[in-house]
Amino acid sequence: MKFNTKTIHGGQKNEEATGAVMPPIFQTSTYAQSSPGVHKGYEYSRGENPTRSALENAFAAIENGTHGFAFSSGLSAIDCVLRLLNPGDEVIAGDDLYGGTYRMFTRLFDKYGLKFQFVDMNEVINVTNAISSATKLIWLETPTNPLMKIADIAVITAKVKAQNKDILVAVDNTFATPYLQRPLDLGADIVMHSATKYLGGHSDLVMGALMVKDANLAAQIHFIQFAGGAIAGPMDSFLALRGIKTLHLRMQRHCENGKAVATFLKNHDQVGEVYYPGFENHPNHAIAKKQMDDFGGMVSFRLKDQRKAAAFTFLEKVRVFTLAESLGGVESLANHPSTMTHASIPEPERLKIGITDSLIRLSVGIEDIDDLLDDLRQALV
Ligand SMILES: *Cc1c(COP(=O)(O)O)cnc(C)c1O
Repeated sequence: MKFNTKTIHGGQKNEEATGAVMPPIFQTSTYAQSSPGVHKGYEYSRGENPTRSALENAFAAIENGTHGFAFSSGLSAIDCVLRLLNPGDEVIAGDDLYGGTYRMFTRLFDKYGLKFQFVDMNEVINVTNAISSATKLIWLETPTNPLMKIADIAVITAKVKAQNKDILVAVDNTFATPYLQRPLDLGADIVMHSATKYLGGHSDLVMGALMVKDANLAAQIHFIQFAGGAIAGPMDSFLALRGIKTLHLRMQRHCENGKAVATFLKNHDQVGEVYYPGFENHPNHAIAKKQMDDFGGMVSFRLKDQRKAAAFTFLEKVRVFTLAESLGGVESLANHPSTMTHASIPEPERLKIGITDSLIRLSVGIEDIDDLLDDLRQALV
């Protein structure tokens, strides 16, 4: 199946009892047994729920994996990946991560004896130099949130595996989605999503996803999820499945509008740097072009007036863009990373990687582009 068919049909079958084309919302915690231990494959919904299973099959299909898992949030999916490790193990992660990922690594899991190194993944050598005999996981986010840096998934994975094939490579694919980039095909072991964002696509749920292509790894993840309990509920699973069916159409428009907004900002006299991997002068444009099919709907930029007050004025003036956290929904959102999504990163760290008070991040939605550009024009004067 081609991708645009997979989003609709991948892993799906009509419901057996009625032929319902969409899986019903099986809003149940438990399932009748005819004799102790004799059941139809469902015992208790923390383990399995048919609505969640339908979604998990779609998750696996769109990332070209064999198994998918739906979690109660993106962060609980990351939490599950870290629970594959043991005290003393080391993780190498990018230095420009989603703020909540950074917070989990440095303030939750460091307590359990895991060690984290944060390196600039633009240079593959930074990753390979950081590998030790204790390294067990590489955590990649590309494009990064919010500076739109790009890491070369295929090259990093090949170099890491050449050094030690047992090191797991996990990719947070939230920004690109499988419409643009398929990390399992590039050699990664685990794909993670905040399905809250583009996969759900309608800003109406919080959910995480993991996708893998190895049965042994899938069994470990299934056990951790079942034993730890961070599952997605049936109603949210239904909504996410419904969202995925239009992922390709939404992404096409996100990409078109993202390109138009980035170009508009680049040519505006009040705007300084624009961070968008589709520009030829983006430092990693060549890698982005190689591993992504287009450049997505996320654009970050700085105003020439670098004062915080100038950024705040812009963010208070936008009307079609909503000032809010999150991204990837049909509606356009604007965000001030240093006070909102990335406030949990200590200021010195934030400034070092470039998340200053002048930085603004846009999640460009699928509205009419004329209305989006008019809105930016009126907010920039
Ligand atoms: C939002 C986000 C997360 C966290 O996901 P939640 O669903 O909010 O728990 C992780 N990574 C990236 C890139 C995100 O944007």
